[in-house]
Amino acid sequence: MLLSDLLYKVPLLATAGSMNAEVTHLTMDSRNVAPGTLFVAVRGTVVDGHSFIPKAIAQGATVILCEEMPAEAPADVTFVQVANAPRAMGFVAANFYGNPSKKIKLVGVTGTNGKTSVATLLFRLFRGLGYRCGLLSTVQNQIDDTVLPATHTTPDAISANELLVKMRQAGCTHVFMEVSSHAVVQERIAGLHFAGGIFTNITHDHLDFHGTFDNYIKAKKGFFDQLPRSAFALTNADDKRGAVMLQNTLARKESYSLQTLGTFKGKILSDGLFGLEMTIDDRQVWFKLIGRFNAYNLLAVYGAAVLLGEDEEEILTQLSAVTPPSGRFEQVISADKVVGIVDYAHTPDALQNVLETIQNLRQNNEEGYFPQIITVVGCGGNRDAAKRPIMAQIATKLSDRVILTSDNPRFEDPMTILEQMQAGVSPVNARKTRTIEERREAIRAAVALAKPHDIILVAGKGHETYQDIQGTKHDFDDRQVLREAFQNR
Ligand code: ADP
Repeated sequence: MLLSDLLYKVPLLATAGSMNAEVTHLTMDSRNVAPGTLFVAVRGTVVDGHSFIPKAIAQGATVILCEEMPAEAPADVTFVQVANAPRAMGFVAANFYGNPSKKIKLVGVTGTNGKTSVATLLFRLFRGLGYRCGLLSTVQNQIDDTVLPATHTTPDAISANELLVKMRQAGCTHVFMEVSSHAVVQERIAGLHFAGGIFTNITHDHLDFHGTFDNYIKAKKGFFDQLPRSAFALTNADDKRGAVMLQNTLARKESYSLQTLGTFKGKILSDGLFGLEMTIDDRQVWFKLIGRFNAYNLLAVYGAAVLLGEDEEEILTQLSAVTPPSGRFEQVISADKVVGIVDYAHTPDALQNVLETIQNLRQNNEEGYFPQIITVVGCGGNRDAAKRPIMAQIATKLSDRVILTSDNPRFEDPMTILEQMQAGVSPVNARKTRTIEERREAIRAAVALAKPHDIILVAGKGHETYQDIQGTKHDFDDRQVLREAFQNR
């Protein structure tokens, strides 16, 4: 493709060399440069891509897209200087791949919690409605029935466009995508044409990256600021920051709510361990999902589907059959009615949410027995150590019995991690807490402790199917282990 065509709509600061250069390949990685390549020099947090420009030229790069012109530039290479290279790359990538996002309905989901859930529920709903769909999420990238491994929450602009082309080729009409705040700040969604954007909620998270809560809010809002006039912007009216998200968007402003006024209104009629009964726009429906937070997710999904032009009745019929996303409050139930819940909660905030949800849902059974909560939880190695005592404290505060165990110890000694967790257990809670290093044994012990109707929460891994020990990923699936333990009960 001609460089001048690739730069359509890209604001330029300066150029040197021929604008008629023929570009056959785009990359940000100097190791992938070959003749015909446009190399984008991106300033990362660790390395600055500008330092790789000489290497890219030595490997035959045809065009260099950069923020700073080098002192010496060979005449046979074209240099294009822009103010923001990652942003420019978004538009160049979209032009290079023929703007696939304009040929499908692309819907992005942002927020602190619920991105995977909402994107996955939309994907499942639209498949149920008879469409071919794509999904770009942390759990998996999926083109119709084909699952591809996911790397980032949101892929970079080049791989996003590549994936969208593949999705179009597979006949997908709709693509649902998680949009993290990192992706917005790093311009990984630049140049993508969204048909709609959804906001779930915002709480303190990722402040290590964004610095302040205000910056984090701005990052999420940046997604809505970029939406085109033709898109919808659907926000959570019950979230304190819901309205802020839509302040400056050109898109059509819509909202959903359980508490106040909104375009899409829902009400919870009953909320139990076996599902949610709700009214949505005055229609009464049962859903297989659990917990108040899922009532919000379902409302967001319903609203987005209506805004995408689907029939209300049809949406609710299909949505009532949809199962929860993999490893998000996923249930495994024993023959004698012990309820196992596998959830990805691996942060203090998520663990607290899940345990509070379980606490609110448990009720006396027919014989007047009040179910106990037994939690199996661990913390990863070579990751944030500060959360270890906090997670153990939350687990012991909100459960009747706790088993501390390993969760991807990686290169750390599992017992050291467990000792750091134990430090968060108060002396009074120590009596209900045990430590079993081997995760399989820990789950078996929880099953042995449980009486019928008790609830076992196995937290941290969710959809993961491995245990990372010393860099080796050993097969391990909490759901499978729980099922086996139930069978041997
Ligand atoms: P994300 O992709 O934004 O990290 P997930 O859908 O993976 O969110 O959910 C992360 C955790 O938060 C899970 O423990 C899940 O049970 C819980 N969760 C899901 N949706 C919501 C929501 N709307 N509000 C609060 N918590 C949620």
